[in-house]
Amino acid sequence: MTVQSRQRKRGKKMTRLCPLFSGSSGNSYYIGTSENGVLIDVGRSARQIETALKENDLDIHNVKAIFITHEHSDHIQGLRVLASRHHIRVFSSVGTIEALTEKDLINDKVDIDVIDSVGVEVCGMKITPFPISHDCREGFGYVAESSDGRRTGFATDTGYISKEMKTALHGCDTVVLESNHDIGMLQCGLYPYILKRRILSDIGHLSNETAAEYAAELVRNGTTRIVLAHISRENNIPELALQTSLCTLEQNGMKQNIDFILSAAPVANTSGSMIY
Ligand SMILES: [Zn+2]
Ligand SMILES: [Zn+2]
Repeated sequence: MTVQSRQRKRGKKMTRLCPLFSGSSGNSYYIGTSENGVLIDVGRSARQIETALKENDLDIHNVKAIFITHEHSDHIQGLRVLASRHHIRVFSSVGTIEALTEKDLINDKVDIDVIDSVGVEVCGMKITPFPISHDCREGFGYVAESSDGRRTGFATDTGYISKEMKTALHGCDTVVLESNHDIGMLQCGLYPYILKRRILSDIGHLSNETAAEYAAELVRNGTTRIVLAHISRENNIPELALQTSLCTLEQNGMKQNIDFILSAAPVANTSGSMIY
């Protein structure tokens, strides 16, 4: 049975996943339905995010909450303006909220709350966090479970895939998975040694090679869609990220468009959402 026919058989309400921006110049994902949903990260200016939503047939008024993974600017750039201008609730970890407050990146007009392992219900979805391993105060990835039980995981900005991450992502229908760099390109590239060491460390970013191995593990456990994300412009090429995962998946006996659908999140998306 193909991925598509398996999904048709379930006869469920459509979930929309729209990667608006991905990469070190900014990250933001919409997950929900055509009527309402949430943003995971807002790492571009408020205006750019509002425009990107429109280009993908969505609107900022569809956004009922914002979930922040961590305090790095490529994840929060539009936060203060978007949250205060449109009165959108924000959720993140205790550590991230502290870091944002200390750095004066939010003010009292931003309605921000702690999300813990119990999760939060919004727009008919249950959003649950899990810890990531990154050089930030207290980074979170998220799993969004829609009312029909379909789960979408967001796992970027992590140096490795921990046991807790695997538990959270196990059985997700769709996973947005970091495939940040090609190890060879990074090692031979122009980045200073200290930055290379940071990216390759356990609190850095996932390589194509690690993402590929984990993609195969995900598909073995029932994931049918994988969106490679946070692809570096300097140390990677989208085609290379895709080929590395594709090759490993095929070596494991899994076939594209039959067992899984693999794609890469564009740096900026104007071509619409994934619907499933
Ligand atoms: Zn980061
Ligand atoms: Zn990042």
